[in-house]
Amino acid sequence: MADKAYVAQLPKCDWCDRPAHYDFKTVMGPWGNGCEEHYLEYRESSTLGTGKGQKLIAIVGQKEVKRYLVTIELNTPNRELMIINGVKAESEHEAETKASRMIIDDLPIRSIRVIKYEDD
Ligand SMILES: [Zn+2]
Repeated sequence: MADKAYVAQLPKCDWCDRPAHYDFKTVMGPWGNGCEEHYLEYRESSTLGTGKGQKLIAIVGQKEVKRYLVTIELNTPNRELMIINGVKAESEHEAETKASRMIIDDLPIRSIRVIKYEDD
């Protein structure tokens, strides 16, 4: 399950000068930090995960944007449900705010439900 690792700063690739986007077990045995190209060249496993490798994600200076699925229930007699797919935001609160702005102002909102569904 651990296929991502969050780091303050991306390290340099062990084989070239580019930033490393992966920390992975190499075909040579030891683990290494690699750019996209060298990860593909030297990885032992074709998939990421515990014991195989992690995709490195830099968190300082850039916030991670996620995609959210938001359902909005309207306070109408038949309680219509609107579903807004793929709202990009940095937090559930921001997703909720963005989604509520997407619908027409005078529609009475009964509830908003945010479902995080995928990292972008
Ligand atoms: Zn490289």
